[in-house]
Amino acid sequence: MPFPLVDSHIHSVHSCDARSTVDEICQKAIDLGLAYICFTDHLDLDPRDEGYNYFDPESYFRDIETARERFGDQLLIGAGIEVCYQSSREEEIVTWLDRWPFDFVLGSVHIVDHGNDWVMVPDRRSMAAWSRTRTMREAYLPYFEELQRAADTGLFDAIAHLDLVKRYGALFYGPFDAAAFAEEIDAVLEAAIATGTAIEVNTSGLFNPAHEPFPQLGILRRYRELGGRVITIGSDSHDYGQLGRGLDVAMEYARAAGFDEIACFWKRQPQFCPLPMGETALSEVAS
Ligand SMILES: [Zn+2]
Ligand SMILES: [Zn+2]
Repeated sequence: MPFPLVDSHIHSVHSCDARSTVDEICQKAIDLGLAYICFTDHLDLDPRDEGYNYFDPESYFRDIETARERFGDQLLIGAGIEVCYQSSREEEIVTWLDRWPFDFVLGSVHIVDHGNDWVMVPDRRSMAAWSRTRTMREAYLPYFEELQRAADTGLFDAIAHLDLVKRYGALFYGPFDAAAFAEEIDAVLEAAIATGTAIEVNTSGLFNPAHEPFPQLGILRRYRELGGRVITIGSDSHDYGQLGRGLDVAMEYARAAGFDEIACFWKRQPQFCPLPMGETALSEVAS
């Protein structure tokens, strides 16, 4: 299979937990033969989050503009954002999305919030503490409920890493059993379909204790069965060396779930690229 040509989930130095500059990532994307990339740096609105107040939109858009001038003839560069959704912060999120011209908005649940008893889902220590006092069902349920609220808002272009709880949850509760949350996952998928929110296939799960993409293939199949048609793919890279990682697997997943195209977003609109993606289709993304 040829190397996949798009990556729609990338962190740069504009995220507190990532290392590579926008320029370094663009150069690497060109070296890899990617045709479209989308930066999706973190927007963290909770003061308890280590990324709180880190994202500086002016400097971010300045870097994107400079990169477009420099690399624009070889690479389509999307300016996206990964919003850490909390139902208590919807107003703030709306303000951000109204104010800045993002091409693509990923909705993520990273924090499950019960006041003092909160948990950072993508964090091993936090999940370890969580798991000591809860069954798997008790631990995962609030995550899926919050994710459904995120999908219900219609604020996001795509739901990121749908079954993220398994990232470190797999260490404490074993492999993720989607059947145990069938009803809750259906509710997320139905909300996404009703609000026109895409589902992301995120390959970072392949390289952490989950050992498989987010979401599981069965969930992607279920999304399609329920009528879902819009998927994006992304590496969730935090270093340019991780760019495009595992996207061949994401494309296999997409095909196995019955999809024959994937979406890349530009100015918040999905542009569909057939699988396997060709440069002809991608050249239309910017038009
Ligand atoms: Zn995330
Ligand atoms: Zn991310």
